[in-house]
Amino acid sequence: MSDRYTLVSGRPYVHQKCGTTTVINEGHFATLCNPFNVCLGTICANCGPGSLKDFHWEDTGESISDYRKRLRCEAPLWAVWYWLFAPILGAAIGAAVMVNFKAPNMTVTSAAITGAGIGVFLMIFLVGPMITGPIVGSRFYGQR
Ligand SMILES: [Zn+2]
Repeated sequence: MSDRYTLVSGRPYVHQKCGTTTVINEGHFATLCNPFNVCLGTICANCGPGSLKDFHWEDTGESISDYRKRLRCEAPLWAVWYWLFAPILGAAIGAAVMVNFKAPNMTVTSAAITGAGIGVFLMIFLVGPMITGPIVGSRFYGQR
């Protein structure tokens, strides 16, 4: 797939509530377009932060929340590792670490559950977004 957009030129979007067009570029653009990043809102040049569903791309009219859903669906099938295997791996590592380094007054079960929770959280919010993009091999922002 050839890239239509670059990080330098960015891509304009429109805030539905006020009709203002804002050009997003550089790191914010890459973050917004990567559907594996947790991203709940973006910025309007006129009125500040807003929900993704209130913004649409100026050129296609597609809402940014729909766009992110679509890119996620179009990602190669094995990208589901992020939703399935990464959290499982995170849970296993987290549980193992916590059980080995638990406080003396903590039971093995509660240490394992706590560790698993931390592992899943780190995988989904930190490790996943950082490595899923490069692994999937797409520069999402370049796609329409
Ligand atoms: Zn606005």
